[in-house]
Amino acid sequence: MSHKLLLIPGPSPVVPRILDALARPTVSHVGADMAADVRLALDNLKKIVFCASGEPFLIAGAGTLSMEVALLNLVGRDERVLVLSQGYFGDRMGEICESFGLAFDILRSPWGEVVPADSLARAIQAKPYGLVAVTHVDTSTGGCAPVRAYAEVLRDSGILYVVDGVCATGGVEERMDDWGIDVVLTAAQKCFGAPPGLAVDVFSERAMAQRRGLPSVPAYYADILRWLPIMKEPTKYFSTPGVNEMRAFAEATKVMLEEGMESRFTRHALYAEAVRAGLEALGFSFFTRRDCWADTLSVVNYPEGVDDKAFRAAYFENGCVVAGGLGATAGKVFRMGHMGNLTADEILFALEAMERALESVGGAAGRGASVRAAERVLRP
Ligand code: PMP
Repeated sequence: MSHKLLLIPGPSPVVPRILDALARPTVSHVGADMAADVRLALDNLKKIVFCASGEPFLIAGAGTLSMEVALLNLVGRDERVLVLSQGYFGDRMGEICESFGLAFDILRSPWGEVVPADSLARAIQAKPYGLVAVTHVDTSTGGCAPVRAYAEVLRDSGILYVVDGVCATGGVEERMDDWGIDVVLTAAQKCFGAPPGLAVDVFSERAMAQRRGLPSVPAYYADILRWLPIMKEPTKYFSTPGVNEMRAFAEATKVMLEEGMESRFTRHALYAEAVRAGLEALGFSFFTRRDCWADTLSVVNYPEGVDDKAFRAAYFENGCVVAGGLGATAGKVFRMGHMGNLTADEILFALEAMERALESVGGAAGRGASVRAAERVLRP
């Protein structure tokens, strides 16, 4: 019981095969072994986001750096950004614009909902924008935005389309070429099931052309043109990459493609349904509006009388870790990730542990109800 099942919305559990890759001896960052892994990771990454052309970038950092990389490399001095925000991480996109003096507007939905595609259509009619940035799944609210419907609105508009897939990429479909997404930015530690430590960005050809057209960008480490030669030829040097993390990430992409992306998306949808069926059987309700639910995490309201800290401590004692609420939801909800390389057995274990934890803090006793409800979804 010293090892807890990590059900926070990222990092997600790292399976032994990927941990083994992380534990291989550290090699030269410009040597042949490393270069082979980087090439493999980059090729696989393009398959994961369905981008045949375009340029993938893997840079030591995390999701916030991948957000900076996308914005700083694409916004010209006289251009304006439109941020669609359904929560904490959408707002962060606005904060990055503010920090770098980029002109922007932010269109917010109430927490638990998402910005409708027709609001985006009206906003781009009202003002000229060079770039629209959206969060696919906002980890603070569990809201999954209609990124495909946004893509339809933006098609033929000439506006660059950036999707934050930190809590979605690899678990929820994102088809860069077919939908016309210009950048998918993401990170290693969620649906990829790799350890944290990498900023992941895939730029479309159009996005690359935009960067090449900018005389300068307010970045040095985050300037993709400094990284491009390394991504083309990983035996070159710009800044020392996280060698072991990169090799673990390469292994993680192999695991994903062995499962197959379609199967992976279907599995995420199935597990989300199973987790929610189990939680509903225990009397929990959800913070997020039903039509905005994400396949990667659930944001769950506490029943009357159940204390956040006591419940999470009891759940920890029973073998699982979930996260508390962010911002105004703190103390009122818990956030439970169900993404990456989780298994059906782990979900059943998590629900059984949840029953025990809930009972120990005075909540409704489950007596197997949640496990049975989830099993009906997982093994009909
Ligand atoms: N975007 C989203 C949707 C996220 O969930 C997160 C992290 N939870 C981030 C961006 C920032 O990522 P990181 O913590 O890896 O910097």
